[in-house]
Order: sequence, then structure tokens, then C-alpha cells
Amino acid sequence: MEKQTVPLLDLKAQYASIKEDVNIAITRVLESQAFILGEEVADFESSISAYLGCKYAIGVSSGTDALLLSLMALGVGPGDEVITTPFTFFATAGSIARTGAKIVFVDIEEDSFNLDPCYLRAAVTERTKAIIPVHLYGRSADMDGVMGVGREFDIPVIEDAAQSIGASFEGRKVGTIGNLGCFSFFPAKNLGGYGDGGLIATNDERLAEICRRLRVHGGAKKYFHESVGGNFRLDALQAAILGVKLPHLDRWNAARRANAKLYAAFFEPMVAEGTITLPLLGEKDVFNQFCIRVGKRDELQGHLKRAGISTAIYYPLSLHQQECFSELDYKEGDFPASERCAKTSLALPVYPDLSEEAIRYVADVVTEFCQRAADSMH
Ligand SMILES: *Cc1c(COP(=O)(O)O)cnc(C)c1O
Repeated sequence: MEKQTVPLLDLKAQYASIKEDVNIAITRVLESQAFILGEEVADFESSISAYLGCKYAIGVSSGTDALLLSLMALGVGPGDEVITTPFTFFATAGSIARTGAKIVFVDIEEDSFNLDPCYLRAAVTERTKAIIPVHLYGRSADMDGVMGVGREFDIPVIEDAAQSIGASFEGRKVGTIGNLGCFSFFPAKNLGGYGDGGLIATNDERLAEICRRLRVHGGAKKYFHESVGGNFRLDALQAAILGVKLPHLDRWNAARRANAKLYAAFFEPMVAEGTITLPLLGEKDVFNQFCIRVGKRDELQGHLKRAGISTAIYYPLSLHQQECFSELDYKEGDFPASERCAKTSLALPVYPDLSEEAIRYVADVVTEFCQRAADSMH
């Protein structure tokens, strides 16, 4: 097997394929010299709300700000509680902390990596003001379970769909099922801008209005403020670029799914032996990450690195064990599924332009590692 270099993510080929359209869009914005909101942002918001199938889409400055703004729009603050998963990117929980509300974690389903709704009822109190399920790695959380509890206790649901744009749950796009849906256009997401950006999706006219107002310092009319918001705007330049990329999203997501399936086929023997656990492979999943689970994770990562293959660990430490959340008084063992995933999950390259040859090479190197590990045990 000949050594290759396989990056975790490479967007250069994707850029080359849309370069002319991107340049036209950027030039249009430069010629207009209109960089803040305006037509570019409004046009992108209407295309993406049509794509997602929601009534309102509000372009914002990042996925993190989409979460913070959603919590602010629901009036979440000190004395309130918000339930979420400890196995997610930091921003999900960080946004809750920034409102002054208390984070309440519940454990995940080990096979999907997503919040397990079976723990929700026991976590709800009179102070619970929101539930934030995360659609991790490109797969929807169990929205039937989450929405059921939300309806039962009349608690709004904010979906963190930052990693899952285009994925769906029972025929509805993620991010449009709860009261508010948050998306990120960070370059490494499935729909990535050329800088930071994010979006809030909602079908609730009142919440849409509040989000729009909070996005511009809480004043519907310039210099008159009914509430305290912030600068949470999506750049016109990013909106123009994202408008070029959006029509390609389904094709790119399909390529990610095909790559995931190819890995799954290569890994079949090791899955049968129990050396590797594959992620679930749903037809509506969009594979922002392809995370396998393996006992000797760190050794495998080192082996792949020496073979020229970049991988990543999402996430090495469950959020309930983070130093900044020590006041919450969680301890090791509180969320066993999340802790196990933090110790065993490894993200392999899965980006749309990854070649079949590269996937085969990654699979060969993984196979070699597993065989060696098995031999050394005999
Ligand atoms: C990327 C991400 C965010 C934050 O998005 P940014 O645009 O980087 O601020 C939030 N939640 C999850 C699950 C993410 O993956």
C-alpha cells in the first residue's frame, strides 16, 4: 500500500468548482458597497427558508450567536434552567451559561451520540425554560421524544442543527421541528461560508420578530431600543457566498453519505469482530463527521497520522467535566455514555470531494492496525 496524504477536510476542489459564481457574487457586493444586511442577506434568507421548509430565516453572525440569540429571544436568564447534552461542541452549553441560566445535562444514546429523550422527564423542573437537542455529526436527534416532552411540559425546544444542515427527521428538515433552529456556516460545516456566519430558523412569527430585533441591538427602529440585543448580523458578503453554495448542498451531502457507506462496507469484517463500532447510517443523515468508535482510539489515531491520514477527536472531554462548569457539581460517572464516547470516538475524513482511492487507503490503514492489535493479543 502506497503512502498517501489524506487531510481531515479539504475544500479547495469544492472552491475550484464554484469559483466563477463566487467571484461574481463577491464582486456584486463590492460594487454595491452595501455590506450590512440589505438585499443580499434578505435574498439568502428567503432561499434558505424555502430550502429548509420554514416560514422565517434570520441570518446571524455565527452558530454560537444563533444559540445565544435564541435563548435571549425566549427570555432565558438567571434562575432559569436549560436542558442539553454533554456530548456536543462547547458552544451549545456555553451559550446557556452566558445567559446566566443553569445548564442541566442529560446523557446520550450511545449509538446515535445524541441526547436520549428518556432522561428528559426526570430533568424537568419548574425552572426549565428550554431544551436544546443537538443533531450531532449530521444525524437528527430523536425529535419525537424531545418534542413529546416539550409539549407535555410546555417547554420550548431549540435545535442545535449546526452540524446537520439538510438532514431530516421523519420528512422534516432538522432545525424546523422545534420552536427555533440554529445553524452554523463556519467553513467546516456542510454549508460553510468563507468566514463566520449562522442562521436561526423558525415558524413562529413572534419569535422571528424578536430575533430580528435583537440582531440589531434590540431596536426595530434605528436608535430606539425596546430591549437589549447585540450585533448579531450575518455579513452581506457571506450571504452572497452562501447563496452560491446552497444549490449544491444536497449533492455535497449525498457525497458525504456515499463516503460513509463506502467506509462501512470496508469495515464490515472489523465490525463483525467487534473491533470497530460504526455510526448509524441513515438515508437522511448528512455526515458532517464520520465517527467510528474503537477501543484503542489514541493508538489508532497515531497509527493513521504516521500513515499520512488526519483525523480528529470530537470531543475528548464531556462537557460536564469541563473546568469552567465545575460549579455545576457534576462528576465522572454521571453520564457514562457520553464519557465512553469521549474516550472512543474518532472522526475520519468524509468530506464530499474525498476520493474513493483515499477512502480505500484510510480503510486499509485502519484494517492493518486492527489486525496488528489482534495479533499482539495472541
Ligand atoms: C459549530 C457548532 C456550533 C457553533 O457554531 P459557530 O458558527 O462556530 O459559532 C454550535 N453547536 C455545534 C454542535 C457546532 O458543531
